[in-house]
Formats: sequence, structure tokens, C-alpha cells
Amino acid sequence: MLNLTVRNVGQGDCIILKWKNDQGDEELGIIDCNDHEMSSLLNEISEVKAIKFILLTHPHSDHFSGLLKLLKYCFKPGSQIKVEKVFHTAAFSPSFLMGAINFPQDRESFAQLLQYLHDVHKSNEIETTCGPMIAGVKIDLNPDMEITCLAPELYDEIEKFKSATYDQPDGIGLDVKKSYAGKANNPHGNYLSTVLLISGPGWEILLTSDAVNTTFERLMSVRPPFANGTKKIIIGQIPHHGSIANHSPSFWKHHINKAHSYTFVSSGENRVYRHPHLKVVKFFDEASNLKYTNYVHGLREYYDTGSQARSTLSEVLDFITEKVPSLPASDRRSSHIDFEINSEGEIKC
Ligand SMILES: [Zn+2]
Repeated sequence: MLNLTVRNVGQGDCIILKWKNDQGDEELGIIDCNDHEMSSLLNEISEVKAIKFILLTHPHSDHFSGLLKLLKYCFKPGSQIKVEKVFHTAAFSPSFLMGAINFPQDRESFAQLLQYLHDVHKSNEIETTCGPMIAGVKIDLNPDMEITCLAPELYDEIEKFKSATYDQPDGIGLDVKKSYAGKANNPHGNYLSTVLLISGPGWEILLTSDAVNTTFERLMSVRPPFANGTKKIIIGQIPHHGSIANHSPSFWKHHINKAHSYTFVSSGENRVYRHPHLKVVKFFDEASNLKYTNYVHGLREYYDTGSQARSTLSEVLDFITEKVPSLPASDRRSSHIDFEINSEGEIKC
């Protein structure tokens, strides 16, 4: 049995995994931590004795904004919670990763997070190891289930991030390309996004974070680990909160199926981002059983309609009305998504 909860954090991610280890004890893993409604998350884990892993998928603030609070909560003096492993992004030095972030405030928070991780790493009192999450790393959950990291790959996504972000070939020294300095967030940070494959007996779950299209192309052509027909994808995360730029229909057509696949999109509420894209949610609605945290609030077209053709507006409203018929406009939000997966790969949600 595996429980997967996608917390409703607006634009961003916080995914909680719970399963039983081979001794029958419940274990917990946390993937990303947005600071939205942190108190309820901390409440939820207050009784927990051990966290197998805390994992940051990539250094963008909608994925890490609550991470420092979470780590400080777990490591505070007298805490009963043991954290076995903290995985951070990619295989490079903190200064290298800082190139993924442009907003001064986010840079400051990320620097604090890295400093804290560094201190934890150096502390003799805390038995937690910190390490990079890149393609090839595995986490054993129990004899039936494991997580394999498929991206970022050292010579592909990490290399692409490096050449897109830095002037200097070695990427060291914070010489971020002038074209990105002082601008909004560096979108190339998404090259560093993990793609995580959770495999059980006969089934797989694909968590894509904000992975980019070239990553999906690589996974299709170089090493299609889930195209061998023996396992089915039962849950897939729609990448980058449903952004059209990260939409790779050919990849997904290969891997999901309305008969047995759920997909989810964690996005919404923050109109600045205007995720997801209507085309994307429509695609996944047709190709799978679509779940969402609160996409109506963030749906790009919902906000773009003022200057756009009315046909778009009515299309959006029709889609929304059909999906959430009974909710008033002021409360068109959903909540956490809970998937309960049994050993046969059957899902309750
Ligand atoms: Zn994101």
C-alpha cells in the first residue's frame, strides 16, 4: 500500500508519500515543500518518528519556499523526528545552483536554505545525510517498491542548464549570463527538475515536477524505461503546473491511458503564473482521469479573457462549469488530492 497526497499549495508543489517498510512500520517521504499552509503540514507530521527522505526537485521558490521551516521543525532541539536523507537538486555546488534563481528575495531564501543544509551536514548531532538527486539515484521503499530518478541527467539536463545560464564554461563563479541578470526567474532552472519514477509490482507512478520537453524527448528516445509494456503508469504528474511550454503530448500518449491512468496538476490560485493552460488540462482530461488541486483559480485563460476573443472565454467557462458545476465562482477550488494505491496498483482517491 502506498499513499500519495498532493497538497493544495496554490502554485507550487508539496507531495507526501506514505508506505510500510519491510518491518511493517509506516514510513514517510516529502517531495518539495511550498510554504502555503505550513502549519497544517507540520501538524500532520508532529507525531511522525522518522522521515525516510525530504527531496527538493529543483531550486525554484514555489517548490522550496517552505523547506527551511520544515527542516528546522524536524531538526529543532528535542525533536523526535529522525530524517534519514535530504536530497537537493543536481550535483553541483551551491553557487552553481544559485544561477537558477533571479528574484533577490528568492536568492536570499535559497542561500539560507543551503547554509542550513550545510550546517546540518556538518553537525555531529544530526544523523542525516544530504546528497544530490540526479538520474540513476534510487531510493528503496520496501522490497516491492522503489523510486528511481530519471532526470536531471548529468550530461544532458544539467549540461543544458549550465550552458543556458552561465558564460563561463565551468559554471563556477556566479557569472550568470547578462541576459538573465536582474530579470524574472531563470526558466532554465526547470532543466534541473527531477523526474521520479516510483515502481511497484506491475505499476509505475511518474512525478515530473517542472521537467521540460527535451527531457521527455530524451526519456522517449534514449532510455524508455516504461515503454516495455510490462508496467503501466497509474499516476502521472502533469509537468510545470500545466504550462503549455512543458506539454509533451507524444510522450504522454505513449504512457497514459484513460482506462487505468490518473494524472494530476498542482497549480492555481496565483494569477501571476496563470497555470495551467486550458489545452493542457483538456488533453489530460481526455487521455486520463484528471485530478487537480485548484486549477480553476490559476487557469491561464481565466485571466486572459479581457483582451481575447469571446470564444475563448465561453470555452473556458463551459469547461469549468462542466468540471465544477456546483461551486460558486468565489470558491472554485479543490483541496488536497489523496491517492491510495494497493499492491495490485488499484487506486482509491
Ligand atoms: Zn514550479
